[in-house]
Amino acid sequence: MANIVIISCDKIRDKSCVACIKCFKAIKEGAGEYERFKDEGINVIAMTTCGDCPGLVMPKMALVKDICNQYGVDFDYIFIGTCIVKATETAKCPIDIPELKKKLENKFGKEVIIGTHPW
Ligand code: SF4
Ligand code: SF4
Repeated sequence: MANIVIISCDKIRDKSCVACIKCFKAIKEGAGEYERFKDEGINVIAMTTCGDCPGLVMPKMALVKDICNQYGVDFDYIFIGTCIVKATETAKCPIDIPELKKKLENKFGKEVIIGTHPW
């Protein structure tokens, strides 16, 4: 079972991508970037947002990690939501995704996967 954290765009989550239904559907079906865990299964440990523009992902994830420690849970992978990818491609999201991936991997020692659902 892959324990994951999903990071979403604060401006998109539950507004144009309502209730994160697309990601939950993709997890269930093993679609999009979740496909690699199709056989193993996925356990969503946490969902958090970038904290709004200009993207406060590092301090948000530090808090997520602190709370994980407090409650005795951990994650294996961090997903950067398709919402964030779309925000960078179609709007003026200032997040540099490859750079963010590097920073997250260095800080938390977990693999970061770019993108989530395929829709
Ligand atoms: S891409 Fe996934 S995490 Fe992001 S808002 Fe949509 S459903 Fe939620
Ligand atoms: S920084 Fe990017 S991902 Fe975060 S709210 Fe703004 S547009 Fe969305």
